Parts: sequence; structure tokens; C-alpha cells
Amino acid sequence: MSSDPSIQWFDSFIGVAYRYYEIRMNVVPLFSDLKKAQNFWRETAHWWNDHSIKIRFVETGDTYWFIMGAESRNPKDNKFLFKVLPKSPNYERFKKGHEGSAFLRLGTHTKKFKKDVKNDAKCNCSHIKEDHEEGDGNDACLFEDCDCEKFETFQVNLLKKKKTVTDIKFLTEAEIKDDALAWNCFSVHKYTK
Ligand SMILES: [Zn+2]
Ligand SMILES: [Zn+2]
Repeated sequence: MSSDPSIQWFDSFIGVAYRYYEIRMNVVPLFSDLKKAQNFWRETAHWWNDHSIKIRFVETGDTYWFIMGAESRNPKDNKFLFKVLPKSPNYERFKKGHEGSAFLRLGTHTKKFKKDVKNDAKCNCSHIKEDHEEGDGNDACLFEDCDCEKFETFQVNLLKKKKTVTDIKFLTEAEIKDDALAWNCFSVHKYTK
């Protein structure tokens, strides 16, 4: 099997969030700002036929490849997503809980500081805002064994528009030769390098 040169691969997104939301698991490619997410939806995802959307997960040690593509009614702007990501508890939860389908939504992943969040917001150091120094300029964590110097957190926002995905597969690298989408991705990004 050879790779398909017509596929445009896209990896200018930050990562993927997995959220249980509106009765179904959501797979959420994350963008650094709203405009980029909206553009990607408008130019690409909007034109995808729901039943043709495929997501492949290929585990390689502590990381996994996220690969997603679909047939488009606007083929000239069609793009397939791929990204190598660290395995996470949310990823494992999705793997166990998806039951064969998911909503695809786009999201934004933005950095927030102390002034932007409520008192019970969690810092990246795992302690909440109230456990950090008060006032502007100094907001180190007050836990003795924590070396966090500045409150910082990430917030994920989901865009409303969604598509339903029913073709989801978890594969090992040995199995990708039988899967056109995963094979194309690996042959372009791994085997020809
Ligand atoms: Zn902190
Ligand atoms: Zn802390």
C-alpha cells in the first residue's frame, strides 16, 4: 500500500481534549485561539460528511498518534489532522468509555492567571487559587513542598458546533498496514523520514 499524496496533513493545533458532555464523549482538537478554531471549522470540518469521519489512535509507548480525516464536500480545503501526544488519564477514559461513537467539537485552550479565575480554580501546580499569595505581582503557592512561583492554569472552551463520529479505532503500529488512514499518516510522517 502506498501513501496518498493528495492528503493535506494539518498539525497546527495544540492537542486533544476528551470530555464527557451532552450524553456522549467529545473529542476536542484544541486551538490556541478562537479564530483559528473557527477558521478550521469553517474551511474544513464543516464540509465533512459525518459518516465518513474516521479517528485512529495508534499507541507507541507512552505516546499515541491522533489521526483524523474525512471525505469533504469541499475537497480543495480538506485537511487531515494528526498529532503525536502523551497518553493522559482523559485519553485512557475515552478509550474505555467511548462505546464506538463520539461528538467531534473544536475547542480553545487558553492560559489564565490569578486575576482571570474564581477562588477555587486549580493552578497547574494542582493547588487552588486561594492557596496562592494574594496581591498583584506575587502569587507563589503557599504549600511548603510546592515550588510554584506563579498561579497559572489552562481553560478549555468547547465550540458549539459538532459532528458525530462513529468510525473510531485503536490500533497498534503492527495493525496499521490494514488501515488506509493510519497507514497514510505513518508513511508520510514516520516511514519516509
Ligand atoms: Zn501554583
Ligand atoms: Zn502549589
